Order: sequence, then C-alpha cells, then structure tokens
Amino acid sequence: MSNAADMGLTARDPWDGQRDVVVVGNGLAGSAAALFAAQKGLKVAVVGTGSQLPLSSGLFDLAGMVPGDKGYSAAPWQTVQDLVSQGPGHPYGKVGADAIAQAFKGFLAILEEEGLGYRICDTNARVVTSVGSLKASYALPETMVAGATALEQGLKTLIVGIRRLKGFEASQVAQSAAPIWPGLSSVVVAPEGLGRPGDIYPEALARELDLPEACDRLIEAIRPHLDGHKAVGLPPVLGMEKSRETLAYMEKGLGVPCFEIPGMPPTAAGVRLREALDRAFSRYGVATFVGGRVTKASKGEGGFTVTASLRGEERTVSARKMILATGRFMGGGLAGDRLRITEPLLDLYVSQPQSRDAWHRCDLFHPEGHAVNRAGIIADTAMRPLDSEGNVVDPSLFVAGSILAHQDWKREKSGAGISIATAFRAAASCSV
Ligand SMILES: Cc1cc2nc3c(=O)[nH]c(=O)nc-3n(C[C@H](O)[C@H](O)[C@H](O)COP(=O)(O)OP(=O)(O)OC[C@H]3O[C@@H](n4cnc5c(N)ncnc54)[C@H](O)[C@@H]3O)c2cc1C
Repeated sequence: MSNAADMGLTARDPWDGQRDVVVVGNGLAGSAAALFAAQKGLKVAVVGTGSQLPLSSGLFDLAGMVPGDKGYSAAPWQTVQDLVSQGPGHPYGKVGADAIAQAFKGFLAILEEEGLGYRICDTNARVVTSVGSLKASYALPETMVAGATALEQGLKTLIVGIRRLKGFEASQVAQSAAPIWPGLSSVVVAPEGLGRPGDIYPEALARELDLPEACDRLIEAIRPHLDGHKAVGLPPVLGMEKSRETLAYMEKGLGVPCFEIPGMPPTAAGVRLREALDRAFSRYGVATFVGGRVTKASKGEGGFTVTASLRGEERTVSARKMILATGRFMGGGLAGDRLRITEPLLDLYVSQPQSRDAWHRCDLFHPEGHAVNRAGIIADTAMRPLDSEGNVVDPSLFVAGSILAHQDWKREKSGAGISIATAFRAAASCSV
C-alpha cells in the first residue's frame, strides 16, 4: 500500500465531475473506506452529514467480548474467532483475520502520516476511563498508552484534574478505580494563565496545549504534587494537532510517564481523530461534502448519481462505484417504524427479526443483547449487499461499517474493528 507522498497526490478541486467512487457517510467506516480507496489511486468523493467521531473515545476496539460473556476478553484475536464461530454471518468472518490485521495496520499508518500515533496491543489493553470504569481496547492513542502500563504495573499514580475544566473529575476517577488500582490519588490544579475565564472546554484546552508555553503552566502547577508518584494521568486534553509533541513535553517537564484518561463525549481525542482524517482527505485528494445529507442516489448507465443537500445548497456527484457507510439508526443509515426496519437511501434488504415484538428482549440489560442491534445489511465477502434471496444487488455497490448485519458492535466492543476491516475490504473490491 502506498502513501500519499509516494503517489504525489494533492488535494483536487472538490467536485470536479465524475469520480471512481462515491462514499456516502463520513463516520469511521466511510472515512476509512474513502482513504483506502484513494490509496489505491481511485478518485474518491465522500459525502456525510457530519460525523459522530468527535463523540468517540479515540480508542480502537477490535473484539472485547462475546455477547453473554462476563468481562472483557484479554485475547482480541481469539474473540474475533469466537464471534465468527458463534454468530453466522459476522462481518469479521467475511473479511478474515489476515485482512483485518492488514486493515488496522494500513489505517494506523494513515493516521501516523497525520501525526496521530496509535499503538496496537497484543492483548486487549485495560485502561481506566474518566468515570473510573475499566475499558479494554486493541489499539490505543499513544497519549493513552502509559495509562495501560501504569495500571498493569500498579504504579503509584497521580490523577490530575484542572479547575474549571468541564467533564472531568479527578477524584471520581481515583475513587471509582481504587478497588482495581490501589496506588491512585488525585489532585485538582489551577494553572495560572491557562484557559479562558469561566468554564474551560476540553477541545479548547487541547488546542492551547499544542503550545509549549501552555504546557509549562500546567507542568508548574502539577510539579509540587508529584511527591513520589511514578505516573501522571490527565484529562484527554494533551494537544490537538501536536499531541505527540505535547505528551513528550509534559513527560520531560514532569520526569514521569504521562497519559490521557479516555473521557466522556465529546472528547478532544475524538476531535483529534476527526481532524486527522480530514487532513488525510486533503493529502489523498478525497473530495468532501461534509454536512450534506444524501437525499437521492440512483444508478444509470454511467454509474451512480448521488445528490446531497445542505441548507438549501444541492451538490451532485457521479461515480462508477458507491460505498454505503451510513451507520445505524442514530445517523440515519437504518430507520425503524412500527412494523419494520428499512434502509432509507437505496431501499436495500435489511436482515431483521420477523416482527417488532422480537426486536428487544424483556430484560433490557440482558447480557446477550437485543436482536434489533444485529439487524442490518447482509453482504458477501466482497462487501456487496445481498437481497432477501442472497443475490448480489449490484456489482458496483458496496457497504461498510456498523450498518452491516450479524454484529452488535457496542456489546462486542468491536466498533472500530468492524468499521476499519469492512472499509478495507469494500475499498479493495472497488479497485477490482
Ligand atoms: C459515543 C461514541 C463512542 C465510541 N467509542 C468507541 C470506542 O470506545 N471504541 C471503538 O472502537 N469505537 C468507538 N466508537 C466509534 C465506533 O467505532 C463507530 O462509530 C462505529 O464503528 C460506527 O461507524 P460507522 O462509520 O459505521 O457509522 P457512524 O459513525 O454512524 O457514521 C455514519 C455516518 O453517516 C451519516 N449518514 C447517514 N445517512 C446519511 C445520508 N443519507 N447522507 C449523508 N450522510 C449520512 C451519519 O450521519 C453518520 O455521520 C464510538 C462512537 C461513538 C458515537
């Protein structure tokens, strides 16, 4: 797989006529699919209403558990296998372990090009979240890696809150996580000259901490409290475009490993991811129409014609192939009425329980989840949607991400993995 520099790509005029591929949906799956396709030299346009990525924790899960099991699995690849053998039709079974691994590697390399580093963990790495709960994940932003190590080694660690910062209570993290991490303590600092007057918002503070002078203020405020602590945990605000440099600067200034604690949405880590992907779009010449909802998509002799509208402005793009990555109910990729679940854009066949009564179990918190969460589009191994008879709907139409059937990403902790892996396969199929 080549990178943008090798290909000599530059951003092109966004809507310069015919494209090879149009991607509908700019969440994790659509963004990854667009970039994988562009890496293959295809001319790509992506249209999306605006992604939910800024809400995400920034962690990339592969497979955290099989629904019904108690607790996280330590072995993500074994869990991938278990998901495939226990749930016929699981998207991971369509892509296969080798391609899933390749997809992760390729996607993380794209982010690395944009200065956003991730570390793949052989076992699911456990981190403490901002509510003090445990989360296990496969690929951690490098700003969160030292937190997994500190927890694993039970290091005496200081959790630092910042006065007036919204959405992060250091004492809550320390108290809730105390049973699994006895060496934790917390402090709230009030660095002089950091943040505007009034409430401080994580995204704004992260941008401020791209600057060494701002880091110096935070370091000065933390240093008197270090007192033999071997690591420092912070809210996820360690830089926006320069998080790698910010982390290194903080660690040098404090003399101990530092890490971000995954936060509640919206998070600076999610915004960082969104912005890195947007920079990658530009690097790889992917045309974007962000904020636009595709209202019409039709297929003619020359391929697909997709019309998107935004505040009264309409744009049309034609492309030989299309990747549908519109997500589930929240983003509008699937819709449900009193009788059934539909796919509103192309009216694709949606695999679903026979009646609405079977959508949910009586027990809302049943560990095996609800049938409605496994509803979705069935695809073949090339990620081409199938109709109710199992026939390919259209050889130039592909689907990726959480809209796919036979997975329950929230329960399986497989969100990023399914998005990245199926995007990789859909993009590869487009280039054939
Ligand atoms: C709060 C939150 C926390 C998360 N935490 C984690 C985590 O800890 N670990 C992890 O691995 N992943 C996490 N994720 C990310 C998750 O992996 C992905 O959101 C998930 O994989 C689904 O991605 P997707 O691209 O398929 O769908 P979506 O993210 O839903 O993206 C689909 C996009 O398509 C748009 N769309 C739909 N219809 C149209 C249309 N007609 N025209 C244009 N656009 C349209 C939608 O509005 C949406 O923006 C989190 C996500 C959220 C929201």
